[in-house]
Amino acid sequence: MYKKILIANRGEIALRVIRACRQLGIKTVAIHSVADQASLHVKLADESVCVGPAEVSKSYLHVPSILSAAEVTGSDAIHPGYGFLAENHEFAERCEQCGVRFIGPTPKNIELMGNKIKAKQLVEELDIPTIPGSTTKMKSEKEAVLVANELGYPILLKAALGGGGRGMRVIHNENELKKSLSLVRNEVLAHFGNPDIYIEKYLEGPRHIEVQIVADQHGTVLHLGERECSLQRNYQKILEEAPCAFLDQGIREKILRDAVRIASTIQYKNVGTIEFLVSGQDYYFIEMNTRIQVEHPVTEMVTGIDLIKTQIQVSLGEALSWKQEDIHFNGHSMECRINAEDPETMMPFPGEIKDYHVPGGIGVRVDAALYDGCSILPYYDSLIAKLIVHGDNRAEVINKMKHALNEYIIGGIKTNIPLFKKILENPSFIGGEVNTSFLKRFLQKTT
Ligand code: ADP
Ligand code: ADP
Ligand code: MG
Repeated sequence: MYKKILIANRGEIALRVIRACRQLGIKTVAIHSVADQASLHVKLADESVCVGPAEVSKSYLHVPSILSAAEVTGSDAIHPGYGFLAENHEFAERCEQCGVRFIGPTPKNIELMGNKIKAKQLVEELDIPTIPGSTTKMKSEKEAVLVANELGYPILLKAALGGGGRGMRVIHNENELKKSLSLVRNEVLAHFGNPDIYIEKYLEGPRHIEVQIVADQHGTVLHLGERECSLQRNYQKILEEAPCAFLDQGIREKILRDAVRIASTIQYKNVGTIEFLVSGQDYYFIEMNTRIQVEHPVTEMVTGIDLIKTQIQVSLGEALSWKQEDIHFNGHSMECRINAEDPETMMPFPGEIKDYHVPGGIGVRVDAALYDGCSILPYYDSLIAKLIVHGDNRAEVINKMKHALNEYIIGGIKTNIPLFKKILENPSFIGGEVNTSFLKRFLQKTT
């Protein structure tokens, strides 16, 4: 077992990793920016190292400082969490070169699936459905117009290296395409360091269903069921559930089977997620995330499996101790992503937390890094807490979530808690009539 793990992240996911390490008797090292000196991950880790100023490029993304911190603290491994360096294959490679284990898939896995065009090509070769569109990068305006005309508008321009809901633009006609193409390319280059763009048919109101994969270094690849993540704003998830209570059993079986096939084909190692869109009786692969995901707790709640502990164990070469038939799904779980934001304008709302009160009770879990008097900083993601509940069925979970949201007090700043309270009262949401356009329509109606 490792003696010490450095956590190259902050906020709730850093705390989540610290807790898993404690379970395994592993010491932890927090890294932090100057601005994060008083943050909870720094207080709770066994040691901490300041790696730079507030700007992420000079601290949480600054590879030389992070590797030095690992060296001076004698850390055996680095856990990247999600975001930041989690899907940076060069970072994973550098860790290995420096003799520090990267807790995640192989650099090759990350590089291959991090490029959505390459991933799509690979999945097509397996005869698994992908969204109609190009499977190569668009080389010219002429080519893009041809592809778009063949598909029919609306289409979606997508960045090969896009992520976090960024790097996507819906296009409604040829004129718009001609105007947008170079603009989008420049934006994408600035954001992801690569201008490659591909085109997909824009599906109207699909459901987002994804599959949690766990894989060890001995060729065992299992799925831990699906999650429904259709509640999204600007392509970013805000509420997730496991399982999807409204998925056709035939489609579920195909998606789970195909996800395992994809991961097995690329000899995937560690945990990862394969994302699909489902529209009527059709389903399509969209991408793979080669890391732990924000919404992993809903899977943990229904399977009883600690995914971070599993990441650490398989990264050491331990074999998974279960077979697929040993994975049992128990009840239903839901997560609300609590953001520090104005519920009206949805703009980030940094500030100092006051009167902090956490909900409780059986099946109520809070993954957060908050305390009375802590600061929500403007430099980082506005996700400040995840409220997760578990119960026998979806109706019980909705009820429990409502009460937990009522109990949750986060004073001093504004959050999207009021939005979740409204969503949970909505008859269409309660009836399971959700898709990726649900929230947009809901917000138009309620504001
Ligand atoms: P999940 O699929 O786990 O829900 P998200 O898409 O919400 O993940 O992204 C998780 C975090 O990682 C967010 O903070 C998001 O901003 C960040 N992120 C993911 N991919 C990228 C990327 N390619 N570039 C920048 N940030 C990213
Ligand atoms: P990211 O890497 O940013 O997570 P994804 O490719 O996973 O990007 O897509 C994120 C979300 O964008 C999906 O969950 C879905 O809501 C929407 N989306 C992506 N591709 C399409 C498409 N072809 N048609 C309609 N919506 C799409
Ligand atoms: Mg995605």
